[in-house]
Amino acid sequence: MPSYLELSTDQLDSQLSQLSKQYEQYRSDHLHLDMTRGKPCPEQLDLSQELLTILDSQSYKAEDGTDCRNYGVLPGLPEARRLFAELLDTAPENIFVLGNSSLNLMYDTLTRAMLFKLPDADKPWCQHEKVKFICPVPGYDRHFNATLDLGFELVTVPMTREGPDMDVVEALAASDPQIKGMWLVPLYSNPQGITCSDQTLRRLAAMKTAAPDFIIMYDNAYVVHHLDVDDPDRVPDIISLCEQAGNPNRVFEFSSFSKVTWAGAGVACIASSKENLAYVQKHLSMSTIGPDKINQLRHVRFLKNKAGVLELMAKHAKILKPKFDLIDRIMNRELHDKEICFWTEPRGGYFVSIDLLPGTAEQVVKLAADCGVALTPAGSTYPGGNDPDNANIRLAPSFPPLSELETAMEILCVCIQIAAIRKLRSQA
Ligand code: PLP
Repeated sequence: MPSYLELSTDQLDSQLSQLSKQYEQYRSDHLHLDMTRGKPCPEQLDLSQELLTILDSQSYKAEDGTDCRNYGVLPGLPEARRLFAELLDTAPENIFVLGNSSLNLMYDTLTRAMLFKLPDADKPWCQHEKVKFICPVPGYDRHFNATLDLGFELVTVPMTREGPDMDVVEALAASDPQIKGMWLVPLYSNPQGITCSDQTLRRLAAMKTAAPDFIIMYDNAYVVHHLDVDDPDRVPDIISLCEQAGNPNRVFEFSSFSKVTWAGAGVACIASSKENLAYVQKHLSMSTIGPDKINQLRHVRFLKNKAGVLELMAKHAKILKPKFDLIDRIMNRELHDKEICFWTEPRGGYFVSIDLLPGTAEQVVKLAADCGVALTPAGSTYPGGNDPDNANIRLAPSFPPLSELETAMEILCVCIQIAAIRKLRSQA
C-alpha cells in the first residue's frame, strides 16, 4: 500500500469503506479493553509476593537495631537510603526514603516551596505575583496537574531526541525570573521513552537562571525500568553535575519502587543537596514523626541491593517487552509507509507515544472508545489537556494481557486510518 498522501479520492473512499466494515465488525463484539494508565499487570505484582512473608514476628529490627515498629528515623532506614543511593548513583546522605508515592513527595516539594522559602530563595513562591514552570511536552499529565493545582502558569517546551530543547529552556530560564523551575523525566520519559543526553543534563545543571531559586523536578521514575536489560540507557548523576556547576541546590530528584515491587505499596525517595534536605527535614518534621519503616525494611530484605533490583527488573522486562514488541509489530504491519502517524519504540519505561495527523487525536480516541478500547484521553500529554495540534496519544501497554492488547492494537490501527482518511478527504 502506498502512502495515503498519494492516494486519489476514489482510492481513499474505497479504503475508508473497507475500514468502516472492519470497524463495525469490531464494534459488534462489545469489547472492553483498557490501555489508559501505566499500571503493572497482576503477573508483575506477583513477582514481589515474597514481600508478604519476608518479615516475621522476630524480624522487625533494622541493621542498626532500630525497632521499625516504633516512631522515628525521619530520613528513612540507613539500609534503604543506601539501596536508593546505589540506584541513583549518589551518596546515601543525599537521600531521604519516605512513604510509598514519589508523586506525593513531588507535590509536597512544590507546596513547601510555595509556603517556605527554599535555601536559595529570598521569599516563598506564594509571595510572588506569578510562578511559572517549564514543562517539556509531550509529558506526564500528573506533573502538569500538580503544578496547575498550585496555580502555576505552565510554559511548554518541545522534546527532542536528547530531551527537552535546551536552546529554548536556556533562553526561557535566563530571561524570566517568574520561571521558578521545570519538570523533567530524564530516563525513558513519559510518554515518549526519551532518555536525556549527557550534554542536555550538563546544560541543565550549568545554565544561567534569572530566578536564583530555580529548581529542576527531576523525576527518575524509570531509572531501572529497562526493556533491553543487556543494553540499558544511563544518565549521569544530576546531583553531582549541579554541584560541579556551582548550583548544588538546583535539583530535587525523585524515584520509587512503585513499578519495581507494588504500585500501591512501594517505597519512594527524594534526593538532593545536604542544604535542601535539611530544609525538607525542618518542615517535614512538623508533619510526621517518621515514615513506614516496616515497609522499608521488607523492601531492603527482599531487593537486597542494586543487583537484586536489576534481577527483578529483568523479570518485569520479560513480561513487558513482548507487549511493547507487539505494539511495534502491529503498527508496522498496519501503518508502515502510510505516512499518517509516527510512533516511538521505547527502550524502557511504560509508554508508547503516537503522533497522528494534526486534528485527529480526539477522534481516534473517541472511535476507539466506541469500539470498547479505552485510551488515555487525547490531550492529556499536554498541560490542561490542551494539545494544540490535537495529534498526540499515549499508549499504556503494561496492564492488558497480550491477547487483549493484540485486539486493542488492531482496532486502534483501524481507528487511526479512518480518522486520517476523513481528514485527508476533508482537505481534498
Ligand atoms: N512519575 C512518572 C513519570 C510516572 O509515569 C509515574 C506513574 O506513572 C509516577 C511518577 C508515579 O510515581 P509514584 O507511584 O512513585 O507516585
